[in-house]
Parts: sequence; C-alpha cells; structure tokens
Amino acid sequence: MVDVQNDFCPGGALAVPAGDEIIDAVNRLAAEAPMVIATRDWHPPDHGSFADQGGVWPAHCVRDTPGAQLHPALRARFDAIVDKGQAHEREGYSGFEGTTLERRLRERGVDTVHVVGLALDYCVKATALAARQAGFDVVVHREATRAVNVEPDDGERAVAELRAAGVEVIGAA
Ligand SMILES: [Zn+2]
Repeated sequence: MVDVQNDFCPGGALAVPAGDEIIDAVNRLAAEAPMVIATRDWHPPDHGSFADQGGVWPAHCVRDTPGAQLHPALRARFDAIVDKGQAHEREGYSGFEGTTLERRLRERGVDTVHVVGLALDYCVKATALAARQAGFDVVVHREATRAVNVEPDDGERAVAELRAAGVEVIGAA
C-alpha cells in the first residue's frame, strides 16, 4: 500500500482528487492479503521536490508531521511500514528506492506483489514498475488507486505504461 497519507487525501497539502475514496477497497484487499506493507512518503523539511527548494510539488509529507501520518480510516494490520523519499535530492517515488522493501518481500518468499494507494501516476506507478523490474509478478488494483492527473489523462497513460511493462492492471477505475 503506497502512501495513503493525510497529505495525499482531500484537505491535505498535496491532495489527490478523491484520494480517500480508495480506503474501503484498500481495507478489503488488505484483509485478504497474507502480508501487508505500507509505504509512507517521508520527506525532510527541505526536500528537493518542494517548490521552495526548486521542485515541482508543494511541501508535503514532512516526516513526523500530521500530514505524513497514514489516513486514520485505514484498518489494515501492517507487517511493516517502509518510509521513502528521505534522500534530499531524490524524488523517491518508488517504495523500493533506498528502502528495505525488496529485502522484506524476499525474506517472506513473496512472488506476487499487489499494489494499491496514491498516486497512480507517480508513486504507485514507480513502485509497481520497480517491483516488476525486481522480478515480481505485479498486480495494480484500479479501484484502490487514484491519479493526480496534472494532465487529465495521466492516470490512463500510467495504466498503459504499467501494462506495457508486464504489470497486470485489474478492477474498475
Ligand atoms: Zn513526496
């Protein structure tokens, strides 16, 4: 589960439109999964992706702030929470970048990774592609993710890119 944090939900610093609408689906999928790992975007206060540092995003998910906390309506019991985006100069979109995620999956003998969360066109896409590159079978659940859509069809472009990389994308948008 990628970045289902307060700042990415309505009212947050970098809200994904209808981002909180995925939470029921996330809770349902997590209840069926033998292992559930959450990633959190977890930035230093002067992260390079922030507009005041020359980046493209408003400041968001600053570590240890309320906006960086997981959404309170989540009901999953997480086997682990993996913090990403901690390096100042890197976007850190992928949950695999600079984290223990791959090691944790290998230790449990995981072969298939199901990806849900926010946002489809950034961190969900990057995480799913990285999982595929690492050799896992990857499924993205469309009903359990939403796109930022800086451009209106970014979400659909992300789906096409995922499918081209061999990621299975299922469920209703
Ligand atoms: Zn971020």
